[in-house]
Amino acid sequence: MAYWNEELETLPWQAVERWQAAQLAAALGRIRGTSALYARLHAGLPEAPRLATLADLQALPFTFKDDLRAAQEACDDALPFGQNQAVPRERVVQVVASSGTTGRPLYFAMTQADTQACADAIANVWFTAGLRPGDIVAHLVGLPMVAGGLPYADGFRRLGATLCWLGGFPTERILREMRHLRVTAMLSTTSFALHLSEQWAAAGRETGKPSHLNTVLGGGEPGMQQREVRTRITAGLGLQHVRDSMGLGDVMPSMWSECEAEDGMHFNAQRYVAVELIQPDSGDPVAWQEGATGEAVYTTFAREAMPVVRYRSRDHVQVVAMRCACGRTSPRMRCIGRTDDMLIYKGMNLFPSALRDLVGTQFAGRAAPLLRIWKASADQVRFDDPIPVEFETETALDAGAADALSREIEDLTRARLQVRIAVTLVAPGALPRSMYKQSLVAVRPEPKVLP
Ligand SMILES: [Zn+2]
Repeated sequence: MAYWNEELETLPWQAVERWQAAQLAAALGRIRGTSALYARLHAGLPEAPRLATLADLQALPFTFKDDLRAAQEACDDALPFGQNQAVPRERVVQVVASSGTTGRPLYFAMTQADTQACADAIANVWFTAGLRPGDIVAHLVGLPMVAGGLPYADGFRRLGATLCWLGGFPTERILREMRHLRVTAMLSTTSFALHLSEQWAAAGRETGKPSHLNTVLGGGEPGMQQREVRTRITAGLGLQHVRDSMGLGDVMPSMWSECEAEDGMHFNAQRYVAVELIQPDSGDPVAWQEGATGEAVYTTFAREAMPVVRYRSRDHVQVVAMRCACGRTSPRMRCIGRTDDMLIYKGMNLFPSALRDLVGTQFAGRAAPLLRIWKASADQVRFDDPIPVEFETETALDAGAADALSREIEDLTRARLQVRIAVTLVAPGALPRSMYKQSLVAVRPEPKVLP
């Protein structure tokens, strides 16, 4: 078996899109008839718009996160999930919390069919990433309710791998049990994989057990595709196979993953979700072609409990290629950053992940691809002074060497990203490592006022 879903994964992409448009055409009446949100958003539009290709979706309005938020708040006893709850309460079998960076998180209800569709799509993601039945997977996300929790676990089981849910235990226990249980693969965020890789060899000496680990699956946080990050993980864990994946809790917890080419992520959710690329400012469509950049927009034509139509992901992506040696026909892309994370220095946009990638590639061996940007307040986006950033050094440096390296990073950032930053270097291991999502941005604590 070379593919999880050979027919859809190898069909020419335009044919896949035509098939998806037909699925949506068939589902649209039900979506508008059962979701008060879509009854409202699509009010006044033709009852049966022409949906022969995905390009025809332009006739439909976008759905924004704020629409979902407002719909969630308009809840009552019959509709605890609000105005986008498209099935009776009795049919909901699971709730998934999508990450809320500010305010109350969004919650997604799922029917039995939704959980099965989700497990199948995510199994496709893991299969593309190289996981196979027989693998013993350490699932290192600690919270079952989040998108990366139970839905990922269901994907592992649907694929036929052995789910070994170690997420949530203390790191020492994870390190020890991964060896005792002969774990062959692990799923974690980039930052937690880096954290484990720093302690992996010591855990081996302590337990006296050899490692069976050969595969690392990244999810929940970008960065795993970066060469320097990969090198640290492969060296620390003593393996070669590192694959990234990406999804969106509001749509489908995982939809994209790297194949053996390890060069951009394929779209693997084509059986349940359609994806468009748009120009974020104008909303105009962007054609899928090598090098194109835009925001990913998703439509769930198969989801029962909480459908989304033309949902703005706020994920900015770049198309790596439209064909692949693996035979999959779906686009391959790289995530450039999220609108939500974007900072502005004197009119220039800065994605924190772009800064991490720059330092990771240009200062490998000197500065670690770990950083923390300090904001004055949670809602600060604009900076008029150089943006304060902490980087970890790879080795302890004296004051003179640290100063010189700081200046080099600042100069290269200005030259490459047209943004001024003020670098502070901190000792190896000084920045926090998180088990789930590592925020690259932090709010500077108020200085303590002495009594
Ligand atoms: Zn491929």
